[in-house]
Amino acid sequence: MSVTASPDVRNTPRVGFVSLGCPKALVDSERILTQLRVEGYAIVGGYREADLVVVNTCGFIEAAQQESLDAIGEALAENGKVIVTGCLGKRADLIRAHHPQVLAITGPQDYAAVMRAVHAQLAPPARHPFVDLLPASGIKLTPRHYAYLKISEGCNHKCSFCIIPRLRGPLVSRPLGEVLREAEALVRDGVKELLVVAQDTSAYGVDLHYAASAWRGHEYRTHMTDLCRALGELGVWVRLHYVYPYPHVSEVIPLMAAGRVLPYLDIPLQHANPRILKAMRRPAASEKALQRIREWRTLCPDLTVRSTFIVGFPGETEREFEELLDFIRQAELDRVGCFTYSPVDGADANALAEWVPAEVAEERRRLFMETQAKISAQRLKRFIGRELQVLVDSVADGEAVARSFADAPEIDGVVRIADAARLQLGQFVRVRVTGSAQHDLDAIPAA
Ligand code: SF4
Repeated sequence: MSVTASPDVRNTPRVGFVSLGCPKALVDSERILTQLRVEGYAIVGGYREADLVVVNTCGFIEAAQQESLDAIGEALAENGKVIVTGCLGKRADLIRAHHPQVLAITGPQDYAAVMRAVHAQLAPPARHPFVDLLPASGIKLTPRHYAYLKISEGCNHKCSFCIIPRLRGPLVSRPLGEVLREAEALVRDGVKELLVVAQDTSAYGVDLHYAASAWRGHEYRTHMTDLCRALGELGVWVRLHYVYPYPHVSEVIPLMAAGRVLPYLDIPLQHANPRILKAMRRPAASEKALQRIREWRTLCPDLTVRSTFIVGFPGETEREFEELLDFIRQAELDRVGCFTYSPVDGADANALAEWVPAEVAEERRRLFMETQAKISAQRLKRFIGRELQVLVDSVADGEAVARSFADAPEIDGVVRIADAARLQLGQFVRVRVTGSAQHDLDAIPAA
């Protein structure tokens, strides 16, 4: 299980928790854990000590569904009393077919239903004043110095390879004031880096008609640009993830150039060939993407662009794949993830003809990553000799592992700092870059 135990486990109903899936699911787990602790349940780290286990599942692709089903099976075998929540909860039939013994199944973000299921099995303990001694920002599963800030749920797009809108519903933005209050509480509790996440960050507020509200004496719209302006007031790193490539994304680049938010954009492009993009039901204009990336870098030369792509999409020809390789060579993206097409049960793309054989798709992925590794290595060389501010993630044996503005936790590279015995976890420090590899940098503390 992935969660550390809370200290007061004696004479208290004990819940085990397994958290799977993406950062959005992680935020759901944090909310449920916070509620469990607020109500006085103890969170335990082993199946055997738990009175029951909650499994927060992922249902994004087939491999994730299998991992979730396996995790439910393991919790049932080790503990026996299991409540399932999260994305796969929308597929109750599938879960029941594999594991008829689960006690209850709820869908994503349905915290109240999870709590009702827990109450039905395990009554909450009598209130105790110390139970309320929780950080104002709730329980986090990330280290103390960074936190995911979820600004909306669901998605209005209909990408043909994705079933997230079906699992999580249409876009529902959190009110701006609520998001900013959570961000303030996180910063008060010691968070140095806020990672803004959503299924589609750039659509933030469209469902609320970009309603304006006041915060710290200024008026802000419920809109990605204004959210960035407001978060930029908090004096911590702000990193944007899952930004769908709308034209208005260009509005945040000046904020990046001005140091209000990190010059880092995680913008999933998925492909470059117009026909494939159309079949994916994504914006089909790679020349525009190329042109925009160049304009952004003119305005903000340090901008790090991260993207993800799918190769082996049904019908993708060798020529279309070559076009994708040309695109990444020209765009010189900094960080890239690449997946072979994976048929998700219920995705419209599965009905497309001419599936690419698995070994061809895998060979394309290998070629893609080989091409990107050279680009990434070349891009990182520009940092050699420069001073950078980094955030320390760990210190051991005199070496620290940190991240610069160009590195999101867990998915990007790191900065390895020699002579770092004096540095501390969660500390901002200035370093001088001494070397670079394909994804990581080497550095020493700046004099
Ligand atoms: S933008 Fe597309 S891929 Fe992303 S969650 Fe929405 S439908 Fe899925």
